[in-house]
Amino acid sequence: MFRVALVNMPWITAKRGSMALGILERVLHRHHIPAESFYLNIRLAASMNLKIYETISDAPLIGEWLFAQHLFGPYGSGELDNSAAAVISRDGPELLDLGRGRRIGFDGIVRDILPPFIDDCLERVPWSDFPVVGFTSVFTQHVSSLLLAKRIKERHPTTLIVFGGANVAGVMGLETLRAFPWVDYVVEGEAEESFPQLLRNIQSGRLYDPVPGVSCRRDDRVIPAREQPPLVDMRQVPIPDYTAYYRALQEEGLADRVRPLIQFESARGCYWGEKAQCAFCGMNGRRMTFRTKPGRRVVRELRVQARRHHTLDFEAVDNAFAPSFFDELVPRLDCRRDGLKIFYEARGLMTRQQIRRLRDAGVCNLQIGIESLHPDLLRRLRKGTTVIQNLQTLKWCATFGVSVSWNFLFGIPGETAAHYREIMDLLPSLTHLDPPQVVARVILQRYSPYFADPERWGIAGFSPKRLYTHIYPDNRVNLRDLAYHFSFTLRQEGENPATYIGPVARAIQHWKDTALLRFIHFTCRKGPGFVLLKDNRPLGRPPDSEERTAVLDGLAGRVFEFCESIRTLPEIAAFAAAGNGGANTAARVRDVLAELVGRNYMYTERNRYLSLAVPEFPTS
Ligand code: SF4
Repeated sequence: MFRVALVNMPWITAKRGSMALGILERVLHRHHIPAESFYLNIRLAASMNLKIYETISDAPLIGEWLFAQHLFGPYGSGELDNSAAAVISRDGPELLDLGRGRRIGFDGIVRDILPPFIDDCLERVPWSDFPVVGFTSVFTQHVSSLLLAKRIKERHPTTLIVFGGANVAGVMGLETLRAFPWVDYVVEGEAEESFPQLLRNIQSGRLYDPVPGVSCRRDDRVIPAREQPPLVDMRQVPIPDYTAYYRALQEEGLADRVRPLIQFESARGCYWGEKAQCAFCGMNGRRMTFRTKPGRRVVRELRVQARRHHTLDFEAVDNAFAPSFFDELVPRLDCRRDGLKIFYEARGLMTRQQIRRLRDAGVCNLQIGIESLHPDLLRRLRKGTTVIQNLQTLKWCATFGVSVSWNFLFGIPGETAAHYREIMDLLPSLTHLDPPQVVARVILQRYSPYFADPERWGIAGFSPKRLYTHIYPDNRVNLRDLAYHFSFTLRQEGENPATYIGPVARAIQHWKDTALLRFIHFTCRKGPGFVLLKDNRPLGRPPDSEERTAVLDGLAGRVFEFCESIRTLPEIAAFAAAGNGGANTAARVRDVLAELVGRNYMYTERNRYLSLAVPEFPTS
């Protein structure tokens, strides 16, 4: 019988099923093609320390290098001498750093854990029953997938190997076909139409008939896809089937150790990136095209999955929460009725009402694309947001109990030490808000505007991240075509970021440490004719952590309250004048604002003002 195996390899996290495999299983079912998913990542996660598995899963290339020792290194073809000792002696220990100097017993994993895992992968699945084996390859799944695919092909030479996923987008897919002769097809982009069409062709012996989005190898030649795959109508995308994932958790004894998140999508593409892609963003052009799924359909999907798997935690894979969802989706969700907790990525442009509505809908985790706390650096990153908007979003999230994660980037082309001196001045007044999760140097990603037009951004040159040279042999693989992460040099090298980022990174670490204790606060409460502030932010007036109270009355209190959302100077002046019988109070308003900003009660940017205190009793 014609059956298809769909494979999910390490080091993808054990906390979620693969949405791609879940959708494809259902799509193939519609086409009467039997398919079975194998979550071999869960097998590996269960055979080692789960925390270490997840740590490796989060690191961009370490997991690739571990499997590369079995594919091209001392345990494999021997094309590379890429043991930990060899890597460290050639390039230093930093290359194997898991963040903040952390390293783990890599040699033990490579020597004792991976060999039985690979043997087990070969034995536990009856591969000869599947004429076609499809691998989903995203993040650090490429080398493990290549390794297992090679072993399957050695044992079952007639089995056809298909790769799909972000790791084979564009030229990366063609290089995968060229460099690894055991891979027969790569399916680029959205596979809902192209994959079944390819399988029907294979089934009827038409192995090389062109299919949009599908490239293949014929003898020793790579035949690129003639056309891009069609963009799928989101209404036609089936609800993903995660049965195999939950079964794997049970079978491997992880069901009570992993708290799964169910992935879903309410849109594909990015509504912002369609207009002006962020400078560092590596989404390729066609994936940027923005389309949404009807809100009614999304809600039905969430309820079906929750009932089916008794799971209430959901993670949207959308690139950025679309403004249209406030009309389409949010009104249909109610966390008190449904009990769902939902994660979304979003831009830092939210108002008070929007954050409150998200909280009520159950969207209680946001990853916000803040990236920097300097207006000029945000402009250079082409984020389309300003610091004051980001701070307003953070403040309303703190007010309504929506938890936020965000990244702080440095090494931005065009930055100087002066930018970071200004950020250092700002940081203490923000310590009552959620801190960044990660402080990270900007890397250059394939398909980003940096990659497409380096000149324009002042980038002199770039090369694949150094660890790639310990993953793929250079006489076999053209890294320029296969790598996704690149290091870059600037045309005009300024000061080395290492000389100025240290104090900022330490201040942010301190912010993170104190945030864990939920100790720092800056709150406001409206009284009759005045505003009461309670503040223990470390603003440099010792004793640092002691709570200070302040009363703002008269014009100061009214202006502070009025600026709980961002206000322009003319708006504030008009408000103050209206409260004073129409008399011109512009000069007094300016004095009051200067005083409030000077005391770190407010943030200002280009004549716009925002009160930073979190209301104790927010109005809805
Ligand atoms: S970084 Fe996010 S918001 Fe910016 S273009 Fe990419 S997906 Fe869109």
